[in-house]
Amino acid sequence: MKEETTESKAVSKNLKFEYDPAPESFPVEIAEKYGHFIGGEFVAPNSGKYLDSINPATGEKLFSLAVGDATDVDKAVTAATNAFENTWGKLTGTERAKYLFRVARIIQERSRELAVLETMDGGKPIKESRDVDLPLVAQHFFYNAGWADKMDYILPGKTLKPLGVCGQIIPWNFPLLMAAWKIAPALAMGNTVVLKPAEQTSLTALRLAEIFQEAELPAGTVNIVTGAGETGAAIVDHPKIKKIAFTGSTDIGKLIAKQAGKTDKKLTMELGGKSAHIVFADAAIDQAVEGAVNGIFFNQGHVCCAGSRLIVEESIKETFIRKLQARMKQIRVGNPLDKNTDLGAINSTEQLEKIKDLVEIGKTEGGKFWQVDIPLPTTGNFFAPCFFTDQSMSSTISRTEVFGPVLTISTFRTPDEAIKKANDTPYGLAAGVWSEKASKIHSVAAGLKAGVIWANTYNKFDAASPFGGYKESGYGREGGRHGLLPYVEVQ
Ligand code: ADP
Repeated sequence: MKEETTESKAVSKNLKFEYDPAPESFPVEIAEKYGHFIGGEFVAPNSGKYLDSINPATGEKLFSLAVGDATDVDKAVTAATNAFENTWGKLTGTERAKYLFRVARIIQERSRELAVLETMDGGKPIKESRDVDLPLVAQHFFYNAGWADKMDYILPGKTLKPLGVCGQIIPWNFPLLMAAWKIAPALAMGNTVVLKPAEQTSLTALRLAEIFQEAELPAGTVNIVTGAGETGAAIVDHPKIKKIAFTGSTDIGKLIAKQAGKTDKKLTMELGGKSAHIVFADAAIDQAVEGAVNGIFFNQGHVCCAGSRLIVEESIKETFIRKLQARMKQIRVGNPLDKNTDLGAINSTEQLEKIKDLVEIGKTEGGKFWQVDIPLPTTGNFFAPCFFTDQSMSSTISRTEVFGPVLTISTFRTPDEAIKKANDTPYGLAAGVWSEKASKIHSVAAGLKAGVIWANTYNKFDAASPFGGYKESGYGREGGRHGLLPYVEVQ
């Protein structure tokens, strides 16, 4: 007779285990207000104005951030130009590498503190900021440090020169990671930087500024000006900035492209997505279900490459949906600082409203809607994971980036139909293909118009791997050797 374990007894009796709360308890200090980081020091904003940064899991104010205007941006550009002409720009690649390694090591040493701050400011679960964001943040500095003294080998036979001062504007979904993957290659190639974090999540970029001070990075090499859209626009407009690197929404990306297009600034854009996740009947279904959950739900759908359109082979639709529902019932939504939480808070009240609005539109446009019935905290911005089936391919919910834990599910019968459906979007950031046959994965991947394609997995990142999009998902690549090229002039 089969021995009954505690677990199997519980399952057979349909008992449900509850976890005790396990909040991350690392003590962090947050100042009441932060100025801009210009010329190696924190300085008050020219306007004297500050914005509140809210903890989205509690609704409470976390700190105030300075609102930057054109004068602040100009000060930052002057500091960055000085550093480019007199200090950072004069260093050899070997010397630059030493600084980048030092920054990477300090990030590793302070990673717990940074992960806690990221979670408090942005609402993402601590297990994501601790296990995904922070290791990648350090990796981007280590990886790019490795290239700093190898500029002659990036494009053999060519001479690569830094551009000068680079303006970088980033969003709220991966605050510190976005800062790292923009700053590290720019510095490795000998440039200096003026960076604007998102107004919702500036805390870890400001903590990174403290790390730059600790690493004794020459003053002005990296300057951080905080604020909202107008501050970003002042960076885009500044005549002495040679390059703009932007990650954010397609709408703002288009605006910036138009503005920067009037100048000779170089431009890279990493914009929105509505990425397809194709599952063939011969795939390992349980793993594919886990991949689907990881692709859209575990990050609140706040990844620009989230697998928000699931396209499953018709013969496994019912089984897949049943397994997906069972898995979704196990998702733990709650306090993002709790180590057991899978899905944290939606980053801002505006974003939560946007998600709710799109879901309502989806319902009125005729899709079948299913939302998991799990307890949500009563304060803060929370939303239970959900999906639509039987929605038309032209419906709003099928075509618009929701940036929330909302999935659409459709079916296909042939690989060609899967490719056609996957490409039927204005975006082209990422895709996933699940099948036990490598030949099938390769032939489908060849037909997909997406910058990154994962095989039998999803949302895996590496500093050595280029990332970027097709069509309205943007242009230029970040990460890997490709990610260095937008930061150099090739001679
Ligand atoms: P998301 O929807 O991901 O927040 P946004 O495109 O709204 O993306 O914001 C991304 C970044 O762009 C943020 O740092 C934001 O402050 C900045 N931003 C917003 N409007 C502008 C603008 N007109 N010019 C430059 N930057 C802007």
